[in-house]
Amino acid sequence: ARRPAANAIIQPNFKFEDMGIGGLDTEFSAIFRRAFASRIFPPALVDKLGIQHVKGILLYGPPGTGKTLMARQIGKMLNAREPKIVNGPEILSKYVGQSEENVRKLFADAEKEYKDKGEESGLHIIIFDELDAICKQRGSNRDSTGVSDSVVNQLLSKMDGVDQLNNILIIGMTNRMDMIDEALLRPGRLEVHMEISLPDEDGRRQILKIHTTKMRDNKVMASDVNLDELASLTKNFSGAELNGLVKSATSFAFNRHVKVGTVAGVSSDIDKLKVNRQDFMSALDEVRPAFGVNEEELA
Ligand code: ATP
Repeated sequence: ARRPAANAIIQPNFKFEDMGIGGLDTEFSAIFRRAFASRIFPPALVDKLGIQHVKGILLYGPPGTGKTLMARQIGKMLNAREPKIVNGPEILSKYVGQSEENVRKLFADAEKEYKDKGEESGLHIIIFDELDAICKQRGSNRDSTGVSDSVVNQLLSKMDGVDQLNNILIIGMTNRMDMIDEALLRPGRLEVHMEISLPDEDGRRQILKIHTTKMRDNKVMASDVNLDELASLTKNFSGAELNGLVKSATSFAFNRHVKVGTVAGVSSDIDKLKVNRQDFMSALDEVRPAFGVNEEELA
């Protein structure tokens, strides 16, 4: 059968550096090459090559490293419809048939648009966070309700059906790659797997830059704050934790301008507020990384 045309286009004004994602350039380029480049090629060329668009990708790695961010930006880049984001546990229902129905519903809009518009349909992205949650019990526990089994099966049948619908892209995410049902990872399903790991020093500097953009632009960050230094002091921090660090530092700066009396009030020099190096040092005592810290380093 003739492959349907590509239906995604790159946003004309899209700029890589505007995505607000730090330290994942390599991963992003690789995902783009492996999973999306074909969608911006002329359909006739895609036909000629006899290739099929990738229907699903899996992003895996520790929490707070930017998987959701990445999935959303992929959607924007491909000019897709507002993505549907669901959590694995959210799908599961104790009522018979309800979990499968929940999966079915996720695909309904895309299926309808494809029916109405065919190749003119926009691209629909379905993001499954905590995908492992629906896989957990598959085949492992005889006494289990079998709910997870049937949910995975429903998802598989939907994904296989996507073959005819060229307007759906599924992005699975998990912290537990080992829990993901192998059947989901086969070619034609979630076939491109990308590890999103904790950022290295350069990545951390980029992420800190992103999360301090406003305070730097508005000159409320003191000149003694050195992002290179902070990047070197935040080994094992995830992007989410770096964001937490900036928030914590800001709270220390706020605190200098709070007057505690009978009621708490703001001091008159509030317009002099600046977040300084010491605030970040205090924040470093308060916000610690949860993952990737090895025992030796702690000892
Ligand atoms: P989880 O596995 O817990 O769902 P996740 O990998 O999907 O985590 P996100 O939800 O994308 O993580 O990240 C949480 C927040 O942390 C983001 O909204 C962002 O503020 C910050 N963050 C994480 N990673 C990055 C990054 N690489 N660049 C910039 N900000 C980041």
